[in-house]
Amino acid sequence: MAKVAFIGLGNMGFPMAQNLIKAGHEVTGSDLSQPRLKELGEAGGKAADSAVDAVRDADVVVTMLPSGREVAQLYLGEGGLLAVAPRGTLFIDSSTIDVETARRVADAASGAGQRLVDAPVSGGVGGAQAGTLTFMVGGPDDAFEAAKPFLEIMGRTIVHAGGAGNGQAAKICNNMILGISMIGVCEAFVLAEKLGLDHQKLYDISSTASGQCWSLTTYCPVPGPVPTSPANKDYQAGFTAAMMLKDLKLAQGAASTAGATTPMGAAATQAYNMFVGAGNAGVDFSGIIRFLRGSEGDA
Ligand code: NAD
Repeated sequence: MAKVAFIGLGNMGFPMAQNLIKAGHEVTGSDLSQPRLKELGEAGGKAADSAVDAVRDADVVVTMLPSGREVAQLYLGEGGLLAVAPRGTLFIDSSTIDVETARRVADAASGAGQRLVDAPVSGGVGGAQAGTLTFMVGGPDDAFEAAKPFLEIMGRTIVHAGGAGNGQAAKICNNMILGISMIGVCEAFVLAEKLGLDHQKLYDISSTASGQCWSLTTYCPVPGPVPTSPANKDYQAGFTAAMMLKDLKLAQGAASTAGATTPMGAAATQAYNMFVGAGNAGVDFSGIIRFLRGSEGDA
């Protein structure tokens, strides 16, 4: 069994660390939150005084941090995790961060003789708890193969997307599709309402026609057609509007750096920016239908 250092025991990181403990690994955790560290102890892990202490004799380091800023701060520099961990340590960064920082950290890792993959996830807190996350992995083949057994404990679908940063690239491209398609489905339902077309009728037709997509058939933004979608629970978040906005901004940043033209991505970013700015950060991202309807009323 491996010695795993787990840095970032938040909504996602804590259940992921729990699954590694349940699989028999020796997990030492670090987080800024003391209550979280106490909970890790109760779950069978060990609390470290700092991230640097956690990685000192680790075989594997998993990080699940808010953004590229925290990842760069912790990984890089003289006293950073890449310098402090034993040479040859396997690093798995599962935070969703910008592609540029992911590649900068990967370069620093290979310079320091460390193995590293970027491995952002989709599947949310439910997927983290159930161990059914999808991991989109970027990095060299040997690091991917070494990371796979650990990712398989925390997830169900593990995809090697290519070299360093490609996991992050896959994540933001996918979520740009999702943000755009959700707004498209919401707009269609709002138009249907104005035209006197019943929600269920539109669903029955479009779910088997060319308008079919995940935002319609799995995550339908009006209550009724898909009983498990957040619309049926007053848009209580599975995936918050704030998280969607974060990923859309990352996609826009990457598009601007890479010179890609993404007008629909830009429009979706603007719409979610307004939705979040109006006090809906914690609302499920499908709740944007209320905003598009021009009211906060029920669907
Ligand atoms: P979170 O805010 O709940 O957790 C982040 C944790 O990192 C916090 O507990 C914080 O205390 C800790 N942290 C911050 N700086 C630290 C430091 N220097 N040292 C140690 N710990 C530190 O966020 P989350 O929802 O768990 O998300 C984590 C990552 O996963 C994000 O990048 C997010 O975009 C991504 N993600 C989240 C979801 C989701 O549904 N929540 C889904 C997919 C991807």
